[in-house]
Amino acid sequence: MPVLTSVSGFPRIGRDRELKKAIEGYWKGNLSLQEVRSTAADLRARHWKLQSRQGIDLIPSNDFSYYDQMLDTAIMLNAVPQRYRSLSFDDPEDTLFAIARGYQGERGDVTALPMKKWFTTNYHYIVPEIDYSTDIHLASTKQFDEFQEARALGILTKPVLIGPYTFLKLARTPQAEELSIDRGLINAVSGVYASVLQRFAELGASWVQFDEPYLSLDKEKGDESLVTALYTTILGTPHAGVKVLLNTYFGHVGDIYEKLALLGFDGIGLDFVEGREGNLTAIERHGVPQTTTIVAGVVNGRNIWRNNYADSLGLIDALRTVTDHVAVSTACSLLHVPYTTQGEDALGEDVLRHFAFAQEKLVELRQIADLVDASDDARRGSSVLHDNQSLFDGSRVAADPAVARRLADLTDDDLVRLPDRSERQRLQREELGLPLLPTTTIGSFPQTREVRAERARLRKGEIDQAAYDDFIRGKIDDVIARQESIGLDVLVHGEFERNDMVEYFGQNLHGFLFTRNAWVQSYGTRCVKPPIVWSDVSRARPITVKWSAYAQSRTSSIVKGMLTGPVTILNWSWPREDVSHELQTRQLALAIRDEVLDLEKAGIRIIQIDEAALREKLPLRRSDWHTQYLDWAVPAFRLVHSGVKPTTQIHTHMCYSEFNDIIKDIDDMDADVISFEASRGDLVVLDAIHDAHFETEAGPGVYDIHSPRIPGVEEITRRIREILAKIDADKVWINPDCGLKTRGDAETWPSLENMVEAARAIRAEL
Ligand code: GLN
Ligand code: ZN
Repeated sequence: MPVLTSVSGFPRIGRDRELKKAIEGYWKGNLSLQEVRSTAADLRARHWKLQSRQGIDLIPSNDFSYYDQMLDTAIMLNAVPQRYRSLSFDDPEDTLFAIARGYQGERGDVTALPMKKWFTTNYHYIVPEIDYSTDIHLASTKQFDEFQEARALGILTKPVLIGPYTFLKLARTPQAEELSIDRGLINAVSGVYASVLQRFAELGASWVQFDEPYLSLDKEKGDESLVTALYTTILGTPHAGVKVLLNTYFGHVGDIYEKLALLGFDGIGLDFVEGREGNLTAIERHGVPQTTTIVAGVVNGRNIWRNNYADSLGLIDALRTVTDHVAVSTACSLLHVPYTTQGEDALGEDVLRHFAFAQEKLVELRQIADLVDASDDARRGSSVLHDNQSLFDGSRVAADPAVARRLADLTDDDLVRLPDRSERQRLQREELGLPLLPTTTIGSFPQTREVRAERARLRKGEIDQAAYDDFIRGKIDDVIARQESIGLDVLVHGEFERNDMVEYFGQNLHGFLFTRNAWVQSYGTRCVKPPIVWSDVSRARPITVKWSAYAQSRTSSIVKGMLTGPVTILNWSWPREDVSHELQTRQLALAIRDEVLDLEKAGIRIIQIDEAALREKLPLRRSDWHTQYLDWAVPAFRLVHSGVKPTTQIHTHMCYSEFNDIIKDIDDMDADVISFEASRGDLVVLDAIHDAHFETEAGPGVYDIHSPRIPGVEEITRRIREILAKIDADKVWINPDCGLKTRGDAETWPSLENMVEAARAIRAEL
């Protein structure tokens, strides 16, 4: 039997983001729901046919979603909170959009369900909400409809569902707490999945895939028995003719593989990109049951470089010494890569041949499968294999000797800033002369339509660089004057020159490439277009110095410089696969270090280095936190700022405050000040700061910038008091949660005025 090819999931937004455009058109009232439905059906058909043409055997269906597949799963299970039902929409899509985005209108006023990052990706899922009154039962036909839709096109698909374990582990109570999962809930949820499976048996499906990425996390007490209970029920229900594929990804499942193998799945999907060692060891140790196929995820679903066929073949050959039943697959859904390299001609054929986006990865799967089936002789003579190997012969890019030399010359001393922080704090207090509870912002001010329009005109050549720079200077003049007038203590220049906090830096660094259309879904209809790290990185020219220096020249107050940190730049780009993340981060750290030192030379006395993505890339397994990540990410940050004078104050910013567990590591970054999101009543992090004797001065956000609401003075005052109950006043900064770029001027200025007034009132009491 030839080896099967399987795709975990395919991007749904469309090659030209057709789905985004249709849905947003509907939201704006320019398109009908019927038009959105028909665009969606066209896209599904196109994606199935494409995969079928490329010879994929197990083509996913139900990987499509109008917004998010966790939300679809919640709807399937009838886990829709009453406040959304009460809006009484006629069309189910409208209810779905209300859950995802909130609704304010004649039918009522509800906020959206929260969103969280999907494991270590930059994709966000909707967090399902379940309470004791949720009546779990099979409540949607989406998965069956899409299966039948494909069959009408002559394509037998493999329906994909988020599995019950992952669903239950990620769902929350209305109080945002983890569920207490009792027998009743287990029975109800597994009952729904069992009946879904039965229905697919009736419909003639041959495979059904349950996605269980949560299995790649460390197990807590009760997790193993939960998995066993759920799947014993599901697999024990008659489903003759349908094979069940348990699909795992984003890491290894070595700690539970033996149990999973005993449950009787027809297929187990394992990630051999991110979980290679752990999964391979588990298979070698515990073997593979006769009736189980190992669906080997060898094609990376999270990066865009071509697969190394020799490497994949080596792995599959190793698996085949243990079992005859191996299929080849993507290591996770292709949702996380762009659609196709076609149309990216500006990059040149020599560059493009190194990349495989979703469409090209289908070809890779087919070619790998064919090579697996080929005889040794045929492999030796294969031009496909030969061409592929030429991509990895080391000739892709020449190393930059200057970068290599700088890295080699680094010593441990370069990773340490002197004198120690308490001494710096004393010196900085004298030098900067700031009041107690200094007020500041996170960097960006509203990127209004006017700002974006001006950038578009520059891009189209309608205005020249000088005119654009004049425009930006005008914006800086305004924002400085306004910050002065409301009495903020530390000012910013507003970041009007930036389209994006990563791309803007990439454009001023050697080693980066940019695509035209390589969009990836981030959440709902929002997509991002990460730049590509192509070769050794160094700073091409000063990046922000002229804007910060200009802003400082307009005021006698202190202006804070504003940079993106190396870990965040790497995490929000496509990293190289031929050198380690550690090395790439170090190169980036040196580049940003140059910028830090130039800012200091230009008279900037406070410099903020944002590391918004540091926390989100923490490995899934606790045992990997330090060895695989923090042990180099934290020193890389120190390398960025260790060269400044003791009196220059270094700030950092993180969007999420879920760092109670790594609070010591955050302190180890050795910044002088950190600001972070904490306005949504998250007091846990304040306790952690208190208990850890956190040394870094802290600016827990005092109001939520994700909402257009204007917080009152009272409310902010209360919030500051909560903070002061946990952190000494001489270590507290007062700032909003995050940057203000997505807000409007109408709410931004009154909110900041209230913030300054609240800080002053409390200051007067101290
Ligand atoms: N300095 C950035 C801003 O204010 C930080 C953005 C972020 O943390 N995501 O926009
Ligand atoms: Zn932020």
